[in-house]
Amino acid sequence: MLELRPNCEICDCDLPPEAEARICTYECTYCVTCARDVLLGVCANCGGNLVPRPIRPAHSWRPGTGLENHPPGTKRRYNRYTAEERADLSNRLKDVPPQDR
Ligand SMILES: [Zn+2]
Ligand SMILES: [Zn+2]
Repeated sequence: MLELRPNCEICDCDLPPEAEARICTYECTYCVTCARDVLLGVCANCGGNLVPRPIRPAHSWRPGTGLENHPPGTKRRYNRYTAEERADLSNRLKDVPPQDR
C-alpha cells in the first residue's frame, strides 16, 4: 500500500493526504514546488520521474478502505543528499525520458 508521507523531504513542508504532492515509484515524496523547481522532475534518490500522488478517500466507501482504515504515515523523511548532489543528478537526467534512464 502506498505510504502517504507527511512532509516534503526537501523543504519539510506539510503534505497531508489531501495536499497536492509528487511521488516516485519508491514513494519518495515532494511538494509541487520542490518537484518542479528544485528537482526538475527528477527524484533525488532514484532518478525516476515524479507524478501526482493520488488522494486516498477520507471515507470508507468499501469495507477496509479509505483514511479511516489506512491513515497517513507520521514518520517525517529528510533527503540525505546535498543541494549540489541533487542538482547534479537532476541536470543529468531532466531531459532523458524516464523509460530511458
Ligand atoms: Zn518541498
Ligand atoms: Zn525515488
